[in-house]
Amino acid sequence: MSLDVAALREQFPILHRRVGNNPLVYLDNAATTQKPQVVIDALVDFYTQCNANVHRGAHQLSDEATRRYEHARDSVARFINAAYREEVIWTSGTTEAINIVANGLAQLLREGDEVLVTELEHHANLVTWQQACRRSGATLNVAPIFDSGELDTDAFLQLLSDKTRMVAMPHVSNALGTVNPVKALTARAKEKGALVLIDGAQGIAHGNVDVSDIGCDFYAFSGHKLFGPTGIGVLWGRKTVLEDWPVWQTGGEMIQDVSYHEATWGALPNRLEAGTPNIAGAIGLGAAVDWFSTLNISDVQAHEQHLLRYATEQANAVDGMRLIGTAPDKIGVMSFLLEGAHPADIGFILDKQGVAIRTGDNCAQPLMKRLGIPGTARASFSVYNTTEEVDVLFKALNKAKMMLA
Ligand code: PMP
Repeated sequence: MSLDVAALREQFPILHRRVGNNPLVYLDNAATTQKPQVVIDALVDFYTQCNANVHRGAHQLSDEATRRYEHARDSVARFINAAYREEVIWTSGTTEAINIVANGLAQLLREGDEVLVTELEHHANLVTWQQACRRSGATLNVAPIFDSGELDTDAFLQLLSDKTRMVAMPHVSNALGTVNPVKALTARAKEKGALVLIDGAQGIAHGNVDVSDIGCDFYAFSGHKLFGPTGIGVLWGRKTVLEDWPVWQTGGEMIQDVSYHEATWGALPNRLEAGTPNIAGAIGLGAAVDWFSTLNISDVQAHEQHLLRYATEQANAVDGMRLIGTAPDKIGVMSFLLEGAHPADIGFILDKQGVAIRTGDNCAQPLMKRLGIPGTARASFSVYNTTEEVDVLFKALNKAKMMLA
């Protein structure tokens, strides 16, 4: 079996639009994915048919809204193989999910404790831990990578000790596409008694994410990178850990009993979900997960690997083109530089030809400094991309090269 990409593309209305005089070639999927019609329909249907606040109203619309909203939680729990549905906490995205954990941990850390991250981090999984360590007096350790962008796992293991309270690492690097061996590293971290958080922003749409199998304590991801809406994401946490986790925000919905001077917190998931949630967003993400689950994940992976191989072969044949990130285990992310050309200029010229890529530091400034580069141009592939689109990318790159290099 293989993906019927032509049929898939039909489900994404935006892929039919043009940019200037050119058909859109959308290769910025690591930044955000496009949305299939079923997700758009779920949002429109919610607002046109049953818009109401959840959990509160004793009326039909509120019941319907609550049912759809909680059905989405079930879909997500099933999708990541959570043991309990209440382990799925809605957040605004990966960033908020990591902040919930880091702010909680900052209250538990003491001087002498250590937090371990990697040189691959997105700012969301770095600055948060810098702040948590600063507030608590704990030490932040950073596991190195090789020049290829592969994590140096020996060095990582050497930095693990009985003092390590938290290991926070990306499942997949957004800047380079490197896939980390999160299951094996989690097992080693657990031997030392550390908590483990996986930044799954880039992992969630590209693999069979099974949080029970990985064995981590927290897994964070954003809906918008998984064909869902922006403004909604998930913090999955192990029930026994989340039950005692310091609360994040306080207010409505998260309490059990309130008097003028005291309050007690409610049960999961509500204790970590203060205030009116992003109801439509959660429903949209549920629709995205249900849609994505209809695809065969092996076919999805094979298709993305095919595109990556096809693009890498062409890149290797272009004079002056340098690939950044060549780890053996990668998702469909191709970061690169063209000799003599600034990435921003490459992005500009590609855009004029309808090709959308990302340029810049990829929200990973320390990683760019570690690699000795100012930033990259990055093409990132998804299920609906085609080899013809890769050809358009290289045609556009040749033009950029002629103009810039
Ligand atoms: N971590 C990684 C690896 C990412 O790629 C991103 C998004 N670029 C984030 C965290 C932050 O995700 P969001 O902005 O959706 O919160």
